Amino acid sequence: MKLFFHGGGCGDSCCLRVKDLSVKIGADQILHGVDLHVHCGEMVALIGPNGAGKSTFLKAILGQIDYDGVIAFSAPGQRERRPRIGYVPQSPNFDSGDPISVADLFACCMSKRPAFLGLSKAMRSKVLDCLERVHGEDLIDKRVGTLSGGELQRVLLALALEPLPNILILDEPLSGVDVEGMGVLMDMLDEIRKTYDLSILLITHDFAMLERYADQVVLMDRTILAKGTPAEVLSSAAFQETFHRKGGAVR
Ligand code: ADP
Ligand code: MG
Repeated sequence: MKLFFHGGGCGDSCCLRVKDLSVKIGADQILHGVDLHVHCGEMVALIGPNGAGKSTFLKAILGQIDYDGVIAFSAPGQRERRPRIGYVPQSPNFDSGDPISVADLFACCMSKRPAFLGLSKAMRSKVLDCLERVHGEDLIDKRVGTLSGGELQRVLLALALEPLPNILILDEPLSGVDVEGMGVLMDMLDEIRKTYDLSILLITHDFAMLERYADQVVLMDRTILAKGTPAEVLSSAAFQETFHRKGGAVR
């Protein structure tokens, strides 16, 4: 059963509600009994050990896999029945010798014109506008294979922000990004959600940034084990139990 409907709102603001969500792949119950409420403008961090079902949960929200239960979204005043979701997948690997440039990548995603014809003037200006949202105009002619982890994430983020989504979903945006780049990226996500009033749902293993950036932390292992403020979840018995039991292996 797949349900995705408008409704279940929170007054005048948009929100995402997940109720009793479960996912089965073959005979394997990957997720069960997942309940979550994300308010507009909130940053929610999903944490949990490897194989906990975090990416599967995001795929259910994206409508990429079948699930049971309800995923409901409400956005008063928006005409489309489905929410606009921006998605930054786990970092794709580009070869350093790959000739594709950032401009080509945008052209492939945003234009029907073959990339080998180059960018029209209008498209180049649109790409620059998109890159401006992540302060990345200078990246437009760089080859994607030569970008640092942080730069690549900013380019993927710029792609996910066009058109502007209601919910931005990122699967481990901080992996492959150095410590300095992590701060830059998190500050940028914080700025983006405030500027555009969108919700952000991201998976991370970097617990150090939770207190500073996340409104809500959700600890998952096939179901939700704990949720609340960063302080509540990080001090919970479930958190201790999950990461000590697993010997600290979180990936
Ligand atoms: P996480 O992102 O928390 O590391 P995943 O959501 O990727 O976890 O995976 C959760 C579980 O579901 C794992 O045991 C994984 O092997 C299984 N799984 C995920 N996708 C598939 C699939 N397409 N087919 C079979 N099993 C899958
Ligand atoms: Mg994953």
